[in-house]
Amino acid sequence: MGLGVGWAEAWIRHGADVLAEHRLELIILDRDIGDGDHGENMDRGFQAVLIRLDDLPPEANPGDVFKLVATTLISTVGGAAGPLYGTAFLKGALAVAGASTLDGAALVALLTAARDGIVLRGKAESGDKTMVDAWTPAVDAAAAAAADGADETAILHAAAAAAEGGAVATEPLVARKGRASYLGERSAGHRDPGAQSSALLLRAAADAAAR
Ligand code: ADP
Ligand code: MG
Ligand code: MG
Repeated sequence: MGLGVGWAEAWIRHGADVLAEHRLELIILDRDIGDGDHGENMDRGFQAVLIRLDDLPPEANPGDVFKLVATTLISTVGGAAGPLYGTAFLKGALAVAGASTLDGAALVALLTAARDGIVLRGKAESGDKTMVDAWTPAVDAAAAAAADGADETAILHAAAAAAEGGAVATEPLVARKGRASYLGERSAGHRDPGAQSSALLLRAAADAAAR
């Protein structure tokens, strides 16, 4: 059992669609506390990923999909989010390199490595009002679900729900990293755009597994 390359590809294709649908929402969130480009950055990056996915060889495994996402995002998305998501997918790819299917432990390793990559790259701590505030609860919830013996789909659903909660919980926070930190106290009262896009992507991962 476990989730294979079909799931990885379905996740990224569905994620690209979801980010396209939520482009304006992410732009508006970033307009409130940043420079208003997050929806555009994510949509442009994932549309570029979609084109390159067509060239994946038939023998590709999930890690190959994530590596392709990483290199594409790093080369096509400017701003903070490109390198941060790029590092997340690159570290995630390394954590599952060579595996043809991912069991619960591998999914936890994937999500943990992705979060650690974001932290390594951006140096944000929990509570700094960044995408880390979606990813860390997601990792913790995935690990707890796996420890309870949940299957792969349930693990991803737990991660997605926790990321959504984490994104909502950024609203009262004062930003201490990224562009929003320039606003100081005025950043409070707005949801962090990167935490929201992270929650959308993790929900897409769970939905792709449930199909
Ligand atoms: P930019 O701020 O360069 O315009 P985006 O708008 O695409 O880039 O992305 C902004 C998002 O990036 C923020 O909402 C936040 O979640 C995330 N971010 C910014 N800086 C950091 C950081 N140092 N660590 C983690 N995430 C960060
Ligand atoms: Mg921005
Ligand atoms: Mg920008």
